[in-house]
Amino acid sequence: MSVPSDDPIAQRVAHAQAVAAARGLALTTLRRQVYTLVAASERPIGAYDLLAALEPERGRVPPTTVYRALDFLVEHGFVHRIESKNAFIACCDVDHPHQGQFLICEACGETIEIPGGELARQLAGSAPAHGFEVHRQVVELSGLCAACQHGQR
Ligand SMILES: [Zn+2]
Ligand SMILES: [Zn+2]
Repeated sequence: MSVPSDDPIAQRVAHAQAVAAARGLALTTLRRQVYTLVAASERPIGAYDLLAALEPERGRVPPTTVYRALDFLVEHGFVHRIESKNAFIACCDVDHPHQGQFLICEACGETIEIPGGELARQLAGSAPAHGFEVHRQVVELSGLCAACQHGQR
């Protein structure tokens, strides 16, 4: 698959498409459009902002359709859900599906994914010792990003 231009978003989309194809997953047009919008968004984006952003291209899309596309993208590690914001962010490493861990700025909303599956595995691995069964693992640290601490935003 050729990587179009030097547009970083187009490159991410092309890469996600290649990863999906290699895993036998279908990145349908809607899923690709939703992924593109999430990847292009500077901050985590909510489902209703996605619906609004899709409208020029696709007309009114039923919310359930967009939620299904998001579920697919989350399930296969292309996108993470930021629970505290009920919003979505493109994963920084789609080659290695993992639980996301995030630093979230309370002031500007900047969200930084912290790579590293080790911490996630350690957390999940500690549960059985307590007889606990994990259904959802959310690691979200809130605070101030470097720019907001220094009043640059
Ligand atoms: Zn990720
Ligand atoms: Zn900030």
